[in-house]
Amino acid sequence: MPIIVQKYGGTSVSGTERIKNVARRLCSAQDEGHQVVAVVSAMGDSTDELLKMAHDISADPPERELDMLLSTGERISVALLAMAIHEMGHEAISLSGRQAGIQTNTVFTKARITGVETGRLNEELNSGKIVLVAGFQGVSVDEDITTLGRGGSDTTAVAIAAALDAEECEIYTDVDGVYTADPRVVGLARKLDTVSYQEMLEMAATGSEVLMLRSVEYAQKYAVPLHVRSSFTEEAGTWVREGDETMEKAVVRTIAHSTDESKLTLLRVPDRPGVAATVFGELAEANVNVDMIIQNVSEQGTTDISFTVVQADLPAAQQALDKVCDELGVAYVIGEQMGKVSIIGAGMKSYPGVAAKMFKTMADEGVNIEMISTSSIKVSCVIERDQVEKAVRALHSAFNLE
Ligand code: ADP
Ligand code: ASP
Ligand code: MG
Repeated sequence: MPIIVQKYGGTSVSGTERIKNVARRLCSAQDEGHQVVAVVSAMGDSTDELLKMAHDISADPPERELDMLLSTGERISVALLAMAIHEMGHEAISLSGRQAGIQTNTVFTKARITGVETGRLNEELNSGKIVLVAGFQGVSVDEDITTLGRGGSDTTAVAIAAALDAEECEIYTDVDGVYTADPRVVGLARKLDTVSYQEMLEMAATGSEVLMLRSVEYAQKYAVPLHVRSSFTEEAGTWVREGDETMEKAVVRTIAHSTDESKLTLLRVPDRPGVAATVFGELAEANVNVDMIIQNVSEQGTTDISFTVVQADLPAAQQALDKVCDELGVAYVIGEQMGKVSIIGAGMKSYPGVAAKMFKTMADEGVNIEMISTSSIKVSCVIERDQVEKAVRALHSAFNLE
């Protein structure tokens, strides 16, 4: 029997009626002749609520305990969902990440999946059960419970789909597909039928939270087709899969943005070999994900180095910088309220003038660009956070995406 993996985001299970709706969908998928695995997120905003409680108690909660706490959200969802399926006369079993065989490294709060041990999953599927897996979590080689970072249930789902060699992985979320921009920011955004892995990787990396970056990396590596859609309708959503000719035609296909960037600038750093290695080595050691990096022209033997991190990594970045800056005898400044806008499209590879048009559009809106980075299919600009939405709308219109 073909195996199907479905992932349901927090909105799809935000109350008991919605849980019953998901249960009905899973029973139908089984009735249609599939072996069904569902990976489920925590109900509604419950991950945020758990985080808030932790921060009410401690400004810097121990990360091991944070993971222990946050992993409970998805366990509530799968247990309730299993009960709903039983009520409908089907058999189901809920499994924690650990029971489902999700093994990770030891980096609390953003662990990476290192393997999926499928013995238990196959056993339960072969006994005719609908298998419900708590997303976003696993167990480390040290036998501790870990979580995979925000949005991590997407990654659990794709990893399981890859390990079970499933036909496809359906991602049920609160929008009915992947759009030309975040539909919550651009009212005129359009749903796309297909997006290539490469484009989706750039979108996820530049802030489109509709899919977690790691899940897209996994999907591409193991060639798992993803179908992003809504649990409230039967309509087809957006397919994310290997690119084809038709995808290459549009020069810019989507505008992505993020509003949680912070910019750090090291001032008058000695311009000699090994300095960047020391600074970024220390940040890597602290598991800080550094995004854009800019080093200015050297003047009188010193230079400024700026880089961005997501806001959640700012405390760890500061701690690491305090140490290296002390050693190097330099200072740094922080720009906390930053954001980023990006234009993405596989077609821009062979098309000149795209970046210039982006900069002109931003200039016409009076938006100041602080940092720029490019790849063959993306141009990103760091700007002030409160200018982001205006910039996204202007770019969406300038590149005729409406
Ligand atoms: P879930 O809880 O189902 O994982 P998320 O909140 O993580 O849902 O992701 C869905 C959200 O992603 C949407 O509500 C939307 O605001 C946002 N989003 C950002 N960019 C896009 C885009 N290009 N297309 C669709 N949704 C997007
Ligand atoms: N519940 C987790 C979060 O809110 C994981 C997920 O939903 O994918 O980030
Ligand atoms: Mg998500």
